[in-house]
Order: sequence, then C-alpha cells, then structure tokens
Amino acid sequence: MNEHDQSAQLLRALAHPARLRLLYALRDGEECVCHLTTLFQQRQAYVSQQLMFLRQAGLIEDRKDGLRVYYRVKDPRVFAILDAANALAGVKNIAAEARTLAACPCPKCETQRRPDRSARDRKRSRRKKC
Ligand SMILES: [Zn+2]
Repeated sequence: MNEHDQSAQLLRALAHPARLRLLYALRDGEECVCHLTTLFQQRQAYVSQQLMFLRQAGLIEDRKDGLRVYYRVKDPRVFAILDAANALAGVKNIAAEARTLAACPCPKCETQRRPDRSARDRKRSRRKKC
C-alpha cells in the first residue's frame, strides 16, 4: 500500500453525508450512541454502522461507561479537511447540531433538561439501557 492508498482510504471513510454529519456532531466533544441515534432519528444499527466505519478508518475512538458507548474524534485535524471540502463545495455555515435534545435519554441531555435533579435520580437513569 503506498501513501496515496492510505489517504484514499481515509477520504473514502469521509465520503458519506451521514458520516460527515456524525463528525460535526462530535466536533465539540464526545457523545454517546443514544444521543447520536436521537439526533439522527435513525435506527441505532444504522448509526452504529456509520460509527464503525469512522472508527475503522481511525477517525474516531470509543469509550465505554457502563452500558453506554461514547465516541469522540481522535484528531481534530479532520475538521480542517471537512472545512476545506465545504469551502470547495460552496457550502457555508454548517448549522451546529443541537446540544440538548428533548427526546434524548443520554445523561448529558437529562442533566441539561433538569439541572436540579437529585443524584439518586441520575443514578437510576444511568442504569437504563442505552
Ligand atoms: Zn443526548
């Protein structure tokens, strides 16, 4: 495999609108699979498949916390590629994804919605399967 093969493999991983959207959703930090599933309004199997593609290309990495799996971007330099691609394609102002989703069961969204919830309640919701 020469150096162009490796770069082509990386670009192939990026060459899908759903995967670009996932990367932008992770731009400001890690998110759990359930958050991304709620954001996409897609089946978890579909979102997981796209995440797997990005992970195999070495673009994102995962972290398990109990039953939840969190994903984050491995190297933020990928956004330089995406920003350049958007500029070349004439795409302006990629809308930031909502950080707190009304219907999302992830701990971050729950805390944002109800900041005064007791720790005991949070513990209970953490046990819920993602
Ligand atoms: Zn969420």
